[in-house]
Amino acid sequence: MKFCSQCGGPVSQRIPAGDNRLRYICDACSLIHYQNPRIVAGCLPVWNGQVLLCRRAIEPRRGYWTLPAGFMENGETMAQAAARETLEEACARVEALELYTLFDLPHIDQVYLFFRAELADGAFACGEESLEVRLFAEEEIPWSELAFPTVGRTLECFFADRRTQRYPVRNEPLAPLSAYLKKV
Ligand SMILES: [Zn+2]
Repeated sequence: MKFCSQCGGPVSQRIPAGDNRLRYICDACSLIHYQNPRIVAGCLPVWNGQVLLCRRAIEPRRGYWTLPAGFMENGETMAQAAARETLEEACARVEALELYTLFDLPHIDQVYLFFRAELADGAFACGEESLEVRLFAEEEIPWSELAFPTVGRTLECFFADRRTQRYPVRNEPLAPLSAYLKKV
């Protein structure tokens, strides 16, 4: 950050009184620009036992398969964000959303969460951010072509939990993408 978004003045990094971290502070109007983690919300949409995945049309990880997910907007709930992203990326309406996985990613300042969901009517199509959208049975999942560790781990949990029909909320640490890429 170089300039204040409120007044356009230059900013510098200092620790505010009573704080313990470096912050960007405006030299002109003294506004403190706090930076906090961003929340990514998504769905694991299911239809007739198959899972809906989208092949990404955008970077990062263009061409790789993902569950529909994206950054939460102001003024919406986590479930609304997950449903909106599913509509945008896969043109699919979801219902019966249940919070399922929750990942802290402190190395990239993000929190990721996925809801299990049912497709409302089985309809889906390619959204603007997708090259391809389709349903996968468990044995068809392209494990080596998944976009992010959060997606792979959510799918692993889902197929494991489906055997017992119990889906506890999972909150686990996850390795960075670089470590994940070495593994697959
Ligand atoms: Zn300012």
